Amino acid sequence: MSMRQVLLVEDSKMFGRLVKSRIEKTFDVPVFWTKTLAETEKILAMAKGHFSLALLDFSLPDAPNGEIIDRVVGEGITTFVFTADLTEEVRNLVWSKKVADYILKEDSNSLDYIVAAIRQLGDNQDSLVLVVGDSARYRTLVSELLYIRKFRVLNATDGKSAMAILEQYPEIKLVVTDYHMSGMDGCSLCQKIREKYKQDRLAIIGFSSKNEGNIGARFIKSGANDFIIQQSFLVEEFYCRVNHCMENLSLIDKIRDGAIRDFLTGLHNRRYFFDAGTELLGHVQKHGELLACIMLDIDFFKKVNDTYGHDVGDMVIKSIARTLCDNAGDRDIVARIGGEEFCILTPHGNRQEVIDRFEKLRRQIETTPAAIVEDKPLFVTSSFGICTAIGDNLESMMKIADEYLYKAKNGGRNRVQF
Ligand code: GH3
Ligand code: MG
Ligand code: MG
Repeated sequence: MSMRQVLLVEDSKMFGRLVKSRIEKTFDVPVFWTKTLAETEKILAMAKGHFSLALLDFSLPDAPNGEIIDRVVGEGITTFVFTADLTEEVRNLVWSKKVADYILKEDSNSLDYIVAAIRQLGDNQDSLVLVVGDSARYRTLVSELLYIRKFRVLNATDGKSAMAILEQYPEIKLVVTDYHMSGMDGCSLCQKIREKYKQDRLAIIGFSSKNEGNIGARFIKSGANDFIIQQSFLVEEFYCRVNHCMENLSLIDKIRDGAIRDFLTGLHNRRYFFDAGTELLGHVQKHGELLACIMLDIDFFKKVNDTYGHDVGDMVIKSIARTLCDNAGDRDIVARIGGEEFCILTPHGNRQEVIDRFEKLRRQIETTPAAIVEDKPLFVTSSFGICTAIGDNLESMMKIADEYLYKAKNGGRNRVQF
């Protein structure tokens, strides 16, 4: 999460010190620590707009009942509250004051919890939520809760405009829809959404003012991930359900990402290269753009393994991968397609520009240590084969690049062949 300074108000010296050091270390952001309401008042008056996040003790010597919360939330600062004594009363009071969350103090996991909660806010900042309903009161209620957790929020007043907004903003991650709406009801909207947007990319939470006609089950059967009944509405429950949806999506993202990336280097793998590369080739063919295919193979890499061991070999592969990544254009596809072999597809630049670019890269690899072994720099060289003629398919371009690579190897290695 992008943070300016963090405000910590905590009168316990021990707990305060723990929190301050953990937050500063984890997020690399300065924490300003006060111990009373009076002290905090002074700082807030002097430093308006300075703090983006506050961690407040519920009970302070000069403000024993959460009086500090209103003062800080009123400044528009995202606020977490620490409490050692969570009664029903304190819980209700905390949630009524528009805080992002509370944290139980005596819990030994409370520091981990706060770190995870702050991280989650950071993720939320990147997530777009669509709130659908024809009641302005409902939309305001839900949108406000989402804003407190830093989500970006869009509103739609009926199902039809919701579908149009989804079309316009494919990055929407979550839809929160009311049941009662003019035109399409919430369940029908869920069904309509699911025809186009599956559960692995978009989550839906259904919302109903009353628990009538088995509404929860109907929402789920219509494709919602979860539902909320306003009659028994609890802020905390709402946040738990929203978080649960977002966590599921990010887990699916991780699994999806793992299937298309190479574990050692983090570059895309062979499988992704063929899928995305075929798509890119189709695109450039259609639009009459350029495309070059470059094969790169590290020279005498077996010797690196044999001389310095497999671990150093891995370091070298990772170092080359990083160099390739740093040099990639925004539409380039860079993949590790074999042990010490990489393939790059680039639509950027004409034939000569591509050749010059990879000649420069070859020199960069030759002159930059790929690893440090026993305090000595280890250099490797690499050979390149470049195909700049657009082929009928990806395989034929790769075959030509591979033939040039073979020539580069036979011609003495450490060269770019085209
Ligand atoms: P050339 O210049 O002709 O390319 O010679 P080379 O030694 O680089 O090529 P060769 O294909 O004979 O050897 C490649 C070696 O790369 C063999 C294999 O053990 C090693 N290798 C493959 N994958 C990995 C890996 O993930 N880590 C490490 N450390 N070595 C790997
Ligand atoms: Mg090699
Ligand atoms: Mg090889």
